[in-house]
Amino acid sequence: KAKGIGKRAFLRYADAMDGDIRRRANLIGALRRAIERGELSLVYQPELLLADGRFGAVEALLRWNSPEYGNVTPDEFIPLAEESGTIVQIGEWVLHEACRTLAAWQRAGVDRRLKVSVNVSALQLLRSDLPGAVEAALRDSGLAASALELELTESVLMGNAEVASERLHAFRRLGVSIAVDDFGTGYSSLAYLHRLPINTLKIDKAFIDGLATPDDHEDATITATIIAMARTLGLQVVAEGVETEGQLAFLEQSACDIAQGYWISRPLPEDACLDFLLRAQARAGTRLDPGTAPA
Ligand code: C2E
Ligand code: MG
Ligand code: MG
Ligand code: MG
Repeated sequence: KAKGIGKRAFLRYADAMDGDIRRRANLIGALRRAIERGELSLVYQPELLLADGRFGAVEALLRWNSPEYGNVTPDEFIPLAEESGTIVQIGEWVLHEACRTLAAWQRAGVDRRLKVSVNVSALQLLRSDLPGAVEAALRDSGLAASALELELTESVLMGNAEVASERLHAFRRLGVSIAVDDFGTGYSSLAYLHRLPINTLKIDKAFIDGLATPDDHEDATITATIIAMARTLGLQVVAEGVETEGQLAFLEQSACDIAQGYWISRPLPEDACLDFLLRAQARAGTRLDPGTAPA
């Protein structure tokens, strides 16, 4: 009898496994066609410069709306795109789309100091043609290299140290900025990262979550320490995932440079983000550069 139950449980388990594997295979197939079918889009999340209240950048974040599977989250489909290699084509699409969008926003009057930040995955970084792809996206859109930032996670940089160093120097030669994403979750030392041409550290949301909660002093200490060390090394610091006023106040006190998170703004579709940025500029009384206003 016990044997029978074990077998039934196993079959249920095998069934679930089977369903999971089938979903993954189906999603991978659907992802291959997603670009040409126009199912991918980007949303943009503003990053606030705490010293002057201006938005210094927007992070481009990928969205996939599939007719068969609905909205699939990046946390599910990015790993599948990596495993299947599709991330290379998708990543190129993201680069072109992000650069095209910011160039269009600039023509609509957005401050030329605003950057767009694009996430780059491990497989993309490994490819020797990535700097060429970045250059092509800049050329096709007419966007200045100084308006583009690339985000690489700490673990991607650590896992591919030699190649990473080569690519980062190529980006530096192009004039593109580099941010280390999800900082603090890997095992890198700032001493190692400091040898790479990096401009910005993005402190992972996991640490920000613990800020301004009275019983948790550890995350606050770690965050303040990262900010202070980054400052010493001449790096800019972004806090990711800022969700409360209390967290923002802590970051301001700790002299953090930039804040990103739902408290400041959710990621927004292209038109809504343009609107958001233009309104913020108008409030700040930011003067438009002559000739950049819409005709
Ligand atoms: P990430 O690059 O660390 O992006 C930050 C994630 O945190 C985004 O999730 C963003 O929507 C979310 N977020 C921002 N502020 C808050 C907040 O206050 N609270 C909470 N709970 N979440 C917040 P999203 O858009 O789901 O993307 C998840 C991850 O997928 C990204 O993490 C990035 O690693 C990857 N990803 C997204 N777009 C791309 C892309 O175009 N290419 C590549 N290679 N990866 C991407
Ligand atoms: Mg990112
Ligand atoms: Mg991040
Ligand atoms: Mg992340």
